[in-house]
Amino acid sequence: MKRAIVKYGDPVLRAKGKRIAEADAEIRALASDMLETMHAANGVGLAAQQIGEALQLTVLDISEVEDRPSTMKLNGKDVDPRSAMPLVLLNPELTLDEETEPGVEGCLSFPELSADIDRAVSVVAKAQTLDGETIKIEASGLLARALQHEVDHLNGILFIDRMSSASKASLGSRLKRLQKETQRG
Ligand code: ZN
Repeated sequence: MKRAIVKYGDPVLRAKGKRIAEADAEIRALASDMLETMHAANGVGLAAQQIGEALQLTVLDISEVEDRPSTMKLNGKDVDPRSAMPLVLLNPELTLDEETEPGVEGCLSFPELSADIDRAVSVVAKAQTLDGETIKIEASGLLARALQHEVDHLNGILFIDRMSSASKASLGSRLKRLQKETQRG
């Protein structure tokens, strides 16, 4: 079922996600709703907070993006990132490469806003799958960026927190307007 995407100004976006002990029927249903919601919005990632649930659960799919490549290893083996999509990750934890690069980012909770954000060039993610398996993903490119953006969400961190003060200032009035619209419901 497609869900409404929570917009900036809703306090759930600032909530740290609760660890998921077991992928029970409720979590599976939630993950399926998140995939449907993300795909319907043409997003590359969605965190549970964005449909109103403060849980350590995120979905990603970079397979439709043609112009921003990714590399991926799954449990130490090179895989085609496209064929590995979509990803459903429970309790993901990231180790970031020290090297960073800027890249443009948007967020489904901030319609029509985007800015350059510095992110680690590559990451290692450890997470559980819906089958209860623990996996290790090594990623670079767009997938590395998307993983960092989504894991931030799971910890109540938003991309505006990582913008330069100049970018944030230039978006200031639009951010305030969005926050007000959200709070009015
Ligand atoms: Zn986002």
